[in-house]
Amino acid sequence: MSIEQKIKELHSSLPQGVTLVAVSKFHPAEVLQRAYDAGQRIFGESRVQELLVKHEALPNDIEWQMIGHLQTNKVRQIVPFVSLIQSVDSVRLIECINREAERIGRVVDILLEIHVAKEESKTGWQYDELVEYLQSGALAELKNIRVRGVMGMATNTDDEMVIRADFEQLARHKEALALHFDASFDTLSMGMSDDFELAIECGSTMVRIGSSIFGERN
Ligand SMILES: *Cc1c(COP(=O)(O)O)cnc(C)c1O
Repeated sequence: MSIEQKIKELHSSLPQGVTLVAVSKFHPAEVLQRAYDAGQRIFGESRVQELLVKHEALPNDIEWQMIGHLQTNKVRQIVPFVSLIQSVDSVRLIECINREAERIGRVVDILLEIHVAKEESKTGWQYDELVEYLQSGALAELKNIRVRGVMGMATNTDDEMVIRADFEQLARHKEALALHFDASFDTLSMGMSDDFELAIECGSTMVRIGSSIFGERN
């Protein structure tokens, strides 16, 4: 299937209330343009440098999202235009985003990335540490970020039961954390090319799909 067909197929098949983020990391701007021409407006990137280059090159009604690990020294470069930072996994990063957003008079939407997968390597908050931080009340003081919800990844396995259990865990975490926020805490970002259907069954409201749209990354 071509990129255009794949975008159209996803737009017509994803349930209402599920947002498609086209994960375009490692693909050149021309390739993203094809998805754009087929109607896609939300793109996810995992590296700041790439995000900057593509933001310059492509139409300005695109919503750019950061989905990869973000270093605090790169925050300033993306805060002026990014529409959502999904991969927020530390107090330091939260405070940095808030500070940079305040400096330019913006409120930046973020997701809290929670670690549920079995691998050690995956990034994200340990749930208990996140709860402790929220209970401290420190986050409520930060006026230039708006926490829109939770992001996570399932264990890298073919075992559907394990993947489902991870997604259900993320969904429970999101429900529990909602107590700390207002109604704008509405996003549960989970599901990638190989597991997004399962993620949607478990309550995902935002899927991040790369390779099944754009092909394998080199
Ligand atoms: C690369 C990436 C994706 C997309 O993965 P695919 O398997 O190519 O769909 C989704 N989320 C994050 C955080 C990623 O880094």
